[in-house]
Order: sequence, then C-alpha cells, then structure tokens
Amino acid sequence: RDMILGRRYETTAAASDASNLPPAEKYEYQAEVSRLMDLIVNSLYSNKEVFLRELISNASDALDKLRFLSVTEPELMKDAVEFDIRIQADKDNGIITITDTGIGMTRQELVDCLGTIAQSGTAKFLKALKDTKDAGGDNNLIGQFGVGFYSAFLVSDRVVVSTKSPKSDKQYVWVGEANDSSYTIREETDPEKLIPRGTRLTLYLKRDDKGFAHPERIQKLVKNYSQFVSFPIYTWQEKG
Ligand code: ADP
Ligand code: MG
Repeated sequence: RDMILGRRYETTAAASDASNLPPAEKYEYQAEVSRLMDLIVNSLYSNKEVFLRELISNASDALDKLRFLSVTEPELMKDAVEFDIRIQADKDNGIITITDTGIGMTRQELVDCLGTIAQSGTAKFLKALKDTKDAGGDNNLIGQFGVGFYSAFLVSDRVVVSTKSPKSDKQYVWVGEANDSSYTIREETDPEKLIPRGTRLTLYLKRDDKGFAHPERIQKLVKNYSQFVSFPIYTWQEKG
C-alpha cells in the first residue's frame, strides 16, 4: 500500500516551548480511520469492555513478535526485561495504563499502524459496514469484527501511546483524541517516562466510563477475556 496517508501537515512548536518538550507533529488520519473513529466514538455499542481484550491482545502480539524476531535478530533483546503486561488502574482520576515489553513501534510504524487501516479485521469491518444498509447495524458489527486498537475510543476521550522499538534509539509519543481527525507524534524526553522497550498506553476515560479504572473490574475482565494470553498480566491500583 502506498503511503500518501498519514502525511505531516503542520508542526506545532508553540505549545511545547514553555514545557521544554520537543515539538509535536500533527498528522491526519487516513479517511477510513476517521470514519471508523467517528463510528466508535458515537456508537451506542453497549459491550464497551471489549476494549481491554483488544488492547491486551495487541500487547500479547507485540511480545510474540519480539520473541519471534529475536530468534534471527538477538540484538533486539539487548535490554534484559521480562516479557509481561502490566495494567494499572487509577480510579480517582479515571486513567488506565497498559504497558507491555514487546516489540514497540518506531515513529514510522506509529504512523503506519495507528494512522491507517492495515489490519484485516478492521478492513472487514469497514466492508461489512458498507454492505449494511441500515445504520442500526453498526453496533453489532463492532462486536462481530473487533475494531482493534481504535476500540480504546469506546471508553476514552484521549489515548496516549508511548513506545520504544529496539530498532530505534528514541521513544515516541502518539496522542489521539476522540472527535479529532488528526493525531500528534513527538519524542518522549521526560526521563520518568522512558521505558527500556515496548509500549505504554494511557487511556483517559470518558466521564461515564471511569468505572473501568477499578482494579477489581479490570481483574475480572482480564480473567474473562484474556485467560489464554501466554504472558503474565499484572494488575494493580495506583496509590492515592
Ligand atoms: P491488529 O492487531 O489486528 O493488527 P489493531 O488495530 O489492534 O490491529 O492494531 C494495529 C497495529 O498497531 C498492530 O498490527 C500493530 O502493528 C500496532 N500495535 C498496536 N498495539 C501495539 C503494541 N502494544 N505494541 C506494538 N505494536 C502495536
Ligand atoms: Mg489487535
């Protein structure tokens, strides 16, 4: 597929001057992604909890990918970190953090993977949507096909993805908001936020969905949905 998508169209340096952050670059989503996000954000889909299954499955895929690639490229494993998934719930602020120590993403991979539709499940979803005449069909389709990463927007106003690929010496931060047709990417420079390898997703939950940030709720969902994940999943509550 040709990458005219996810093109850069604006540099926003102004806001970051004060905080000493490197400038964030703004990118437009591929049109299909915008459409998908609109559907997800505005859907009345009631089974929103599937977001956790989708995000854990991405974390697990990223760990599998690293394990597989490191057979032929052992240097990818130069950072000796455990293979695991950590889910942190901050119920006071309605924030969930999901961290994996998998393959991570380079800057280009962030654009390719989170700004365009690469994956078959989501592509099938859009095709099925096209084939569905009645708009009311949307809700069932989300559950039927799964909408992958974008399912984070079923419950979040804002999603931050901070990621470090062993192929890159830099860590990057992707920020997307519900109801926005663009996202930003900047370099991570806050030493407290640097990770040796992998991806950390931070979900800023919608007002009505903050209840998902309870450790008991997360533990229950993990048990229901992700019992066959072959990596340890740790959950804990942020200290107040
Ligand atoms: P799928 O998992 O079916 O490919 P998703 O929408 O769930 O589709 O994710 C899109 C892509 O984003 C993935 O294929 C992967 O390349 C990338 N991605 C998502 N989450 C992660 C993660 N935690 N670590 C590394 N890459 C990820
Ligand atoms: Mg997925």
